[in-house]
Amino acid sequence: MPATRDYYEVLGVPREATDADIKKAFRGRARDVHPDTSDHDDAEELFKELNEAYEVLSDPQKRANYDRFGTADPQSGFPGGGYGYGDPFGGAGVGDLFSVIFDGVMGGNARQQARPEGHDMSAQIVITLEEAASGVSKPMAYARSATCESCSGSGAAEGGSVKTCPSCQGSGQVVSARRTILGTFQSVAACDTCAATGTVIEPPCPACSGQGRVQARESVSVEIPAGIRDGQTVRVSDKGEAGLRGAASGDLLVTVRIRPHDFLHREGDDLHARAGVPMTVAALGGEIEVPGLDGPVPVRVPAGSQNDATLVAKGAGMPKGRGGHGDLIVHVNVVVPTRLNKAQRELLEQLNETLGTSKHPSPLERVRDWLGM
Ligand SMILES: [Zn+2]
Ligand SMILES: [Zn+2]
Repeated sequence: MPATRDYYEVLGVPREATDADIKKAFRGRARDVHPDTSDHDDAEELFKELNEAYEVLSDPQKRANYDRFGTADPQSGFPGGGYGYGDPFGGAGVGDLFSVIFDGVMGGNARQQARPEGHDMSAQIVITLEEAASGVSKPMAYARSATCESCSGSGAAEGGSVKTCPSCQGSGQVVSARRTILGTFQSVAACDTCAATGTVIEPPCPACSGQGRVQARESVSVEIPAGIRDGQTVRVSDKGEAGLRGAASGDLLVTVRIRPHDFLHREGDDLHARAGVPMTVAALGGEIEVPGLDGPVPVRVPAGSQNDATLVAKGAGMPKGRGGHGDLIVHVNVVVPTRLNKAQRELLEQLNETLGTSKHPSPLERVRDWLGM
């Protein structure tokens, strides 16, 4: 029998067959060629072929690939082995049996599960607000399972080699058949001999016992971009757990925490600060200096600024992700002198008289004063 018969031909359906057509055709054909019931000489081969065709054409993605490339998996070509068959027509609950069998046989995940990529690892780092503003490179040392240097991750000792597993012939999975009154059931399990990798190592690398990875101290430099927010994560590629026998490593995920600043409070890209403004400057207007991230920031105070007014120093906030900066927002704290010398007191009394402040304010004025209006 040719190994590459057209799957549509195998099932006896046209290329535009619906999913239901395909399922129906499969069941019909399966009845005819099932090895337990068919007297066809190569029933077993035909049934395998039928399963293969059905497995591809019943999966929309695989079917699309097959239609386009002539194979279900254009990356790796169609895998040869691993297909089994069961008895979907044992007499009861056809639908249920169907899914039992095909979940097991068609899975093909055993290799992926057992030849794992290394896991991601997570860590936390604390930086200052200044570092968050400028960006910073932070060294970090930690323990991880790293690629074994003795065998470069292959798991084989010097002169040793990686061989196809004799128990599973490299498929990473073993198929066992179980006969029941409902028929023969096929089950697929990960191969124990090779931990489902499909290969065994002879002799194994003594440094890593054939694992291809060992516990090691690792030092990395975590590059933290300017403007990072508290709680954001920086990914250091391939610095997580190394994969088994040369499989891909996981990443190191570093969560960045920003230590609270003494006087600057961040909200988004803006920074907020409280600044004392002498009452005379608040009344007359002027300029004050506010300590910012990179040193003093001059801030203009308009005449008549009230307590709790906000002043804005444009661009003196945190860097934004797409260029530019947020603002520094200054909350005015009008400072009244607590000690006055004689001359100052006389000046203020004169001022008080010229402002005509009433000694007996009206009820309305009292309310206004109380509300700070
Ligand atoms: Zn090794
Ligand atoms: Zn094996």
